[in-house]
Amino acid sequence: MQQPTRTELAALGEFGLIDRIKQHVKIENKSTVRGIGDDAAVINPDGLQTVISSDLFAEGIHFDLSYTPLKHLGYKAVAANVSDIAAMNATPTQILVNIAVSNRFSVEAIDELYEGIALACENYKVDLVGGDTASSRSGLVISITAVGLAKPEQIVYRNTAKEGEVICVSGDLGAAYMGLQVLAREKQEFTANPEMQPQLSEKDYILRRQLKPEARTDIMYELRELDILPTAMIDVSDGLASEIMHLCKQSGIGALILEDELPIDNLTALTASEFGVLPVTCALNGGEDYELLFTLTQADYEKVRHHPDITAIGITKKAQDGIYLMSKGGNPYPLKAQGWQHFQA
Ligand code: ADP
Ligand code: MG
Repeated sequence: MQQPTRTELAALGEFGLIDRIKQHVKIENKSTVRGIGDDAAVINPDGLQTVISSDLFAEGIHFDLSYTPLKHLGYKAVAANVSDIAAMNATPTQILVNIAVSNRFSVEAIDELYEGIALACENYKVDLVGGDTASSRSGLVISITAVGLAKPEQIVYRNTAKEGEVICVSGDLGAAYMGLQVLAREKQEFTANPEMQPQLSEKDYILRRQLKPEARTDIMYELRELDILPTAMIDVSDGLASEIMHLCKQSGIGALILEDELPIDNLTALTASEFGVLPVTCALNGGEDYELLFTLTQADYEKVRHHPDITAIGITKKAQDGIYLMSKGGNPYPLKAQGWQHFQA
């Protein structure tokens, strides 16, 4: 077998690396006036409002390179940012990518990372217009800033839901979390016994949801085509329960969520029971789903009632009614948001 080539980052230097990164870039949006190459990028919003959001991914905290291909990591980092822009109902247009890398990484490894970034840029029609490159003494850090554009009246905030609206979510929930559990289990078994073959067959869907998630720009564009403006919206990155709490608290309303209606894929449920976890717990607290959670007026909901990828999971209530989950057995439980709490011991 041929050894893959390994070019040291030091052989290229920072400017050589930036030149190489530039080769992954194709500018598609007319709002991009100037991309990589000057002191700053130039964007022409052309009368629209600009929506901006950043996300940071640190090795060992947000990803584990022993089972995350760099190409997927690049893709996921872009998708996570685009998801935030979609949650504002803005059209994603540009991203900036900041990386800190150690000499543990080769030029080819950075190429792989940017192949994933470039693929995501192509899929979401965003331009990579800049970033920063620094060295790191240990792990890889990648931080992306995404820019989106929208007419002011089109932007959807978290704090504008009202009582008596339908709470909807796109896709299904909890799959990315179960995918992560499977990867962690296989890593542990491999560490204990390197002869073991990983047991990953038949787990495709949940692994893909963990390693290469998609931002739901498709749902956002579809709602626009149907002339539906959600009354409030948020993306599900930290778990449904925590996002429902954010939306309700900021809107000053309550909610009743029906456990029976939560969209959970069969493989997610099956894998959850394999791990002795309740599927509903994955759906409520799993995180990294990157689905859209939004509220619709009853009239708008009628237009998507039969949509295969949008599920009504509950209804908004008065603030004093609280935020409850109605169990399959018909008992209301106060909803608790575990979410992903970084600074907990
Ligand atoms: P400065 O010293 O002014 O910060 P740099 O040499 O860091 O300039 O960057 C030169 C150009 O390359 C800028 O347009 C910058 O946005 C872009 N750039 C730098 N690092 C990256 C990166 N990792 N990904 C994409 N673009 C980058
Ligand atoms: Mg710089």
